[in-house]
Amino acid sequence: MDNIAKNINQLIADGSVDIFIGYVKGNDNRAKAAFFNISDKVDNAIFDASCTQNLAVYLHKHEIKSFAKIGIFANYSTLRAIIQLANENQIKAEKYIIQTMNKDSQIITFANLTEVESYVQANRPAPAAAMIQKLDSLSKMDRDERWEFWSKELASCIKCYACRSACPMCYCSQCTTDCNQPQWIGVPAHGQGNFEWHIMRAMHLAGRCVACGECQRVCPMEIPLGLLNARLNIDIATNFGETAGMTLGADYALSSYKVDDKEHFIR
Ligand code: SF4
Ligand code: SF4
Repeated sequence: MDNIAKNINQLIADGSVDIFIGYVKGNDNRAKAAFFNISDKVDNAIFDASCTQNLAVYLHKHEIKSFAKIGIFANYSTLRAIIQLANENQIKAEKYIIQTMNKDSQIITFANLTEVESYVQANRPAPAAAMIQKLDSLSKMDRDERWEFWSKELASCIKCYACRSACPMCYCSQCTTDCNQPQWIGVPAHGQGNFEWHIMRAMHLAGRCVACGECQRVCPMEIPLGLLNARLNIDIATNFGETAGMTLGADYALSSYKVDDKEHFIR
């Protein structure tokens, strides 16, 4: 897309950014992340329906953080992750030039995070019908059936941690699962250890997950991780009125306490 390349080239040439994170064509008609700081690479830049990766995952990497001025071409989920990362004090808005492309193929440059917030609120896509259907069928199962469902799904996890690497909201310098003094989570990929890993991860992301679907997309074992995240996101939204990455300055439900917090859903 010529206008995207022209736009990025311009930002690099006039010194507005030191590095620009965008997309180029990858294998199998999928886009992949690209890091532009030399103008002659930019001609390959694209932005279309294949650009599903959540690029916000790079914003908290030290290799990127070391740049003073960073540009990013963000899809919808990336914009939500940027808001959530700002709410969690992981990024400083003034370092970034944040852009997206609207439905009319116009490039939008956000002046500040308040504009990003307005955009995500005005353009929220409807939830995928297949996801709603699956969540519905899971909610109709009794506890034993759900246990069986998840035991079967999680049994195939090989603990490659690709889901963690792809997640824009997994940024701890040392993940609980890598801690071995004490060893909170067993290292081998076996039934109990897999449950421990996935319950720990799901709880850490409850109400923080921006529903980008990256964890599920990258899983080599095709485990439906999105169902776990979506279930917990629904519980947080229903019980605490919060949806990650939609409101600037929002509190994180699980780190704040009110005496009248509901508890009836804990069972
Ligand atoms: S990407 Fe899939 S297989 Fe790898 S750790 Fe995550 S759930 Fe397990
Ligand atoms: S948990 Fe999965 S869906 Fe949620 S923000 Fe992380 S990668 Fe995206």
